[in-house]
Amino acid sequence: MKSAWLLLVALATALSTSARAQGLDFGKIEIATDQIAPNLYMLSGSAGLDPAHEDAAGGRIGVLTGADGILMVDAQYGELADKVLAAIRRISSAPVRFLVNTHIHRDHTGGNAFFAKMGATIFAREELRAGMGNATRTVNGNRVPASEPAAIPVVTYGMGEPVRLHMNGEVVDLIAVRAAHTGGDTMIRFENANAIMIGDYYRNYGYPFIDIANGGSLKGMLEALDATMKIAQADTRLVPGHGTIIKRADLIPYRDMISAVAGKVQQLIAQGKSREDVLAAHVTAPYDAGVPGGLLPAAGAGGTSADRFISEVYQDLKGGK
Ligand SMILES: [Zn+2]
Repeated sequence: MKSAWLLLVALATALSTSARAQGLDFGKIEIATDQIAPNLYMLSGSAGLDPAHEDAAGGRIGVLTGADGILMVDAQYGELADKVLAAIRRISSAPVRFLVNTHIHRDHTGGNAFFAKMGATIFAREELRAGMGNATRTVNGNRVPASEPAAIPVVTYGMGEPVRLHMNGEVVDLIAVRAAHTGGDTMIRFENANAIMIGDYYRNYGYPFIDIANGGSLKGMLEALDATMKIAQADTRLVPGHGTIIKRADLIPYRDMISAVAGKVQQLIAQGKSREDVLAAHVTAPYDAGVPGGLLPAAGAGGTSADRFISEVYQDLKGGK
């Protein structure tokens, strides 16, 4: 009887989680524009409408404008592409020439095909291109179909020297990050604007998300944060894919939290504890009060953002990566 009840609870939880994941009403989402330098803008979706990102629907977009044309960083959900274009057109009538993806998730790449068909050339990591062509990929346990050909990046690069674009009086560096949030992360630095778009290996809404199924890793998260701290100056604006704009000093407690949680999980693994035991130990408890959204369900993950993070750390450390 008890197990039937548990099954029912599990079923109800799964149903409500998938309803939340599908509960996006794109029609209600508006795109807000913030200017962060004379020719650099950030576009964000409305708050409170995307269950996966309550702070702002979808991933943030960067727009560099000027006589040389537009460079975009990320492309939001494809369903919002018309609204994103309308927001860009309120800033500039120049052609969208280049689009760079910070990583593969659809809240960052969904609009790729729309902008590619308008003539934009898409830049991204080789791993991202390979992932987009893969028909058996999953995110949070959900199958993701292969992307349509137009969405797939044309210019790819690996680790090593940054790809550098010189346009609109700006120097834009596409800096590859070792497998962190996903296996194909890039941070995008605007040298003159003194801003870096850092994608999703840092977040200040919910706990970190290490997408192991798409190549992310704990070690890479820590390395990506170290690399960012090295490249950024104290006053450099760091623009995450979600959440509020931060400075280099904000990375320190975040990195410390990840390494402290990983240390505790490692201890429990050494004591022979199972994944369930580790989750029950709630090793993020000291940080919960300081992580907005940390105890809310993570869309599609079947648990809270804290549970997802702890599970990922457990899986990564258990796998010996
Ligand atoms: Zn992401």
